[in-house]
This record gives sequence, C-alpha cells and structure tokens, in this order.
Amino acid sequence: MKSVYLPVFVLLFSFSINSQAGTFWFPIEGHYPYSSNLKITAIPDLDRNTNSIKTRLWQKGIKNSQTITVKGLNAFTKNGGGDWDFDGVRYNDSQGGTGKKYVWYDNHNGYDFITTGLVKDPQIFSVEAGKVINYDAEYGQVGIEHNINGIIYRTYYTHMKDIPTNVQIIGSKVSKWQLLGRMSNKSKATEPVGVHLHFTTKKKVGTVGDDWVIVDPYGHKPNWPSDTTDDPNNPYLWQ
Ligand SMILES: [Zn+2]
Repeated sequence: MKSVYLPVFVLLFSFSINSQAGTFWFPIEGHYPYSSNLKITAIPDLDRNTNSIKTRLWQKGIKNSQTITVKGLNAFTKNGGGDWDFDGVRYNDSQGGTGKKYVWYDNHNGYDFITTGLVKDPQIFSVEAGKVINYDAEYGQVGIEHNINGIIYRTYYTHMKDIPTNVQIIGSKVSKWQLLGRMSNKSKATEPVGVHLHFTTKKKVGTVGDDWVIVDPYGHKPNWPSDTTDDPNNPYLWQ
C-alpha cells in the first residue's frame, strides 16, 4: 500500500519547492507583476564593472552618447529605442529630454521603483517572510533576511518613511506582505533623492564567512555563456 503514497509525496514535495521559487513579489502596494503606474528607473548591475554594458536580461544596451551620469550611475538606451519589456516587467525611464528610453544600472546594486498615478507615497511590503536584520533611520532603510529552502537571502528597502516601530527592532519576525513603511525621499541630508524605493536583494554564498552577492529577483537566465548555463559571477535568483 505504501507504494501508492510515494508518488503523491514526491508530487507534493516538488510542488512545495516550486511554489517557493519566484515568489519575491514587487514590494510596492498594488504593483505586480506590472502596472502602468509603476516605473523601474534603475536595475541591478550584476557584474558591477564600471562602464560595462553587458546587460542582464540578454537585452543589449548602448551607452548614451551624451554620457548621462547621475551620482555614479550611467544611463543606457535599448538598441532601437523603446521600452524595455520583459515578461510583464517594464523598464521605461525617459530622461534627458531626448525622448529616448534609458535604464540606469552601472554599479547600481538594486532596483529603483517610482510610481505615478493616484497612490501617493505607496506602502512598501516585505516580499517574503523573514526577520529584521538591519534598521537605519537616517536612510529610512530596513533589511530582512529570508530562508528559502535553506538558501539565505537579504532584501533591503531604502528611502522609506513611516517605518512601524515593530520592524525597527533587529530580530523581529516579519510575514510576507507585512508593512515596512512608505515610499519617500528620506536619505542622508548630503544625498538628496527624489521619492522612490531603492530595493536590493542579496544571496549568501559559501558556507563560511559573511559573503553576499547581488541577485536579481525579477531577472531571467542570462545567455552567457549559454541560455542553459548561468554565469557563476552573475547569479540569478529564480531559475
Ligand atoms: Zn537606487
């Protein structure tokens, strides 16, 4: 009789793993997978090489000939212009007054989200369950650590206001969708920013020490060196 149950167990087990993967939803209220009121104005630069134009998402970008640079970030345009659309996620920042579409990513360690429309200063939520490992009042930043099938991730939400007192305490448990604050322009006085969410995801690598790499929770498998082999230097969260 036990042989009847084995396939069921295997099926349930596989399902539980698959249901975990890819569940980092956008941290902003009402915006998943993509809403026209949400814009992504910078993306994670996974190789972190200055002036590199090896993009994520296998989409080729070109450095703007006018070299638009803001606080160390370079802007890149998509070949042929137009928005950067990938599986329900749109990257469509227009900057510089030229009508071109830019994505900012050089040496940038996460996503920048801005919103337009009716919701002002939208609520920010934890993208998964976890525990608070960082709180920085000056930057309006909360860091959450997640254990997903034994793999440790950290997500950082920056430039927030109205951070609830219970998530200001290191070690506090948070649930998926728990309120972490609201989008704002909070930063160091010497680094003024517009209202946006800076969102970083890191993955713990190795078994000793405190070694982390930037990953892209909304990215796709890169085609280097092939579509079926990941670049070990550019790990992707969801495969
Ligand atoms: Zn940013």
